[in-house]
Amino acid sequence: MRVLLVEDDRMIAQAIELALKDASYAVDCVSDGRAAEVSVRAQQYGLVLLDLGLPHLDGFEVLRNIRDSEVPTPVVIITARDALEDRIRGLDAGADDYVIKPFEMGELLARMRAVLRRNGGSGNPILTNGAIHLIPATREITFEGNTLRLSSREFSLMQSLLLRPGAILSRQDLEDRIYGWNEEVESNAVEYLIHSIRKKLGNQIIKNVRGLGWMVSKEK
Ligand code: CA
Repeated sequence: MRVLLVEDDRMIAQAIELALKDASYAVDCVSDGRAAEVSVRAQQYGLVLLDLGLPHLDGFEVLRNIRDSEVPTPVVIITARDALEDRIRGLDAGADDYVIKPFEMGELLARMRAVLRRNGGSGNPILTNGAIHLIPATREITFEGNTLRLSSREFSLMQSLLLRPGAILSRQDLEDRIYGWNEEVESNAVEYLIHSIRKKLGNQIIKNVRGLGWMVSKEK
């Protein structure tokens, strides 16, 4: 899943970016409010992490503008402003949650997962489709009674498909969800990932739709 991180403090941004990548997210980073707005409109993100004190346009304005233009992407505010008034203002402006700096990365990641669950309309932290269960907290997948660990990118790819079972995702759709801006993507990267997932799970789960992309069939 691809995340936009909006943070002007370089040290904090780098620490968060590392933690997110470690947790299998693709991350794009911007450090001011205008760049945040442009990015949110240009790219479909799974989630935005938004600092409030930003150059050019503060986080409240960014949030208000993107909600005014009906961008539905979940937003988690990350801020040192712990005043009650700011928290209320942020939530009222359309944020889904907030985390107060300094925070533990573990808490940030757990809150992100919680927001994503609510946003997906399911309270269940485990993504289930038929006999497949994907566990975001540990990056494990269980299938036919076996539990396997996926690599970071394999997990991102499976998550992208399992979030929309029955939908065909093209190579571009998958690349957009798995890789950030500054990551070089080899032309056959998606095929390579699918190949390595199939080696773990067998060939039947990810279906190839010739000329269009890949899908996971929707199962009860
Ligand atoms: Ca700031």
